[in-house]
Amino acid sequence: MAPWMAEQPKTIVAQPTTLCPMDCTYCYLLERHLKQEMTPQVASAIAHGIAASWEPVEVVWHGGEPLAVGLERFAELLQPFEPLRRAGRVRHKVQTGGGRPITDAWCDVFEQYEIGVGVSIDGPRELNRHRVDRGGRPMFDRTMAGIETLKRRGIPFTVLAVVSQDGTGQAGQVLDFMRDLGTSWVGFNVEAKEGANSDGQTPSIDHARRFWRDTFEWCRRSNDVTVREVSNLWGFLGLTQDRRDADSRHDPIPTIAWNGDVVLLSPELLGVRSITYDDFIAGNVLENDLPTILLRADELLYVQEFAAALKTCKQTCEFFSFCQGAHAGDRFFEHGTFAATETDHCRNSVQAPVLALAELLNRRGEADDGLGAHGACGVEPRH
Ligand code: SF4
Repeated sequence: MAPWMAEQPKTIVAQPTTLCPMDCTYCYLLERHLKQEMTPQVASAIAHGIAASWEPVEVVWHGGEPLAVGLERFAELLQPFEPLRRAGRVRHKVQTGGGRPITDAWCDVFEQYEIGVGVSIDGPRELNRHRVDRGGRPMFDRTMAGIETLKRRGIPFTVLAVVSQDGTGQAGQVLDFMRDLGTSWVGFNVEAKEGANSDGQTPSIDHARRFWRDTFEWCRRSNDVTVREVSNLWGFLGLTQDRRDADSRHDPIPTIAWNGDVVLLSPELLGVRSITYDDFIAGNVLENDLPTILLRADELLYVQEFAAALKTCKQTCEFFSFCQGAHAGDRFFEHGTFAATETDHCRNSVQAPVLALAELLNRRGEADDGLGAHGACGVEPRH
């Protein structure tokens, strides 16, 4: 096991199907048109690979569109995890883009297996024009119908939203929308060039800074929605140096494909091929268990290069203490190598929020007031 990598994952990403009925213009999934489904044998191998010594782990079912695998198959995939779930060692989460209707039958499954539900929606209708079906028709109303079903059933949900160039000036409207939607947690992914979205339009750092500045301002006024990035930064600022050092090992985030193949560090690497790195696959759970695959991680060229780049980041970047090197995949998608350091992703999603918060605090000279004293977006500093 590489010393910079956590000994166990906090999150395992599992792909029940590659298929997605949607065709979002910024989607990074290369195989979303293919119907390839996970078998219960693969799910069983994943479950059996969760070591008894591990802390509780979150299994995130992410596609494709995970609901596209169908209720019956999805329930079959959950069965091998049941002893672990009942023992509190596994929590399930499903991240749906709304590409299949969230019905009462799905809600029954979410309740029965205590599955956390995440929905992907980018804000008000006009900011969802990238989220379309195969015919180019907007998905907004269909996604909203699914959210209404969740709300009617009293099932809480989180939101992941992509921030495209045209949304960077509308943080307030987006957050008002999220609050009115009824979610209490949102994570923002600033659009990046990843996988199939290699020609995507990445916002500039100035636009991203504006987005985060407006987000911090909104959070200062409202405690209704926890924003992941605000929460992370605020939590970091509340840590002692010892805790910062202790929290600094990278989650390997094993991402397991429908057929049991495992990629590490970035779910976006699944299904990608490269002349230099081949298929990024670290192993297959039908042949080796997850702990064995993780133990061999540092034999992979992309893992080795990422480790070396982390050292460079640590030596050269003033944001490293908070950032810890950000995402491996973005280095590859932007620069063609994991040995690169700075990316648009880290500029927009790590540096920009830090700079935005510093700017606000400097401007107001109120580090102990407002943002400082009360936390932001309902988050109290961690100690
Ligand atoms: S902000 Fe970018 S360059 Fe700096 S440590 Fe993070 S990944 Fe490396």
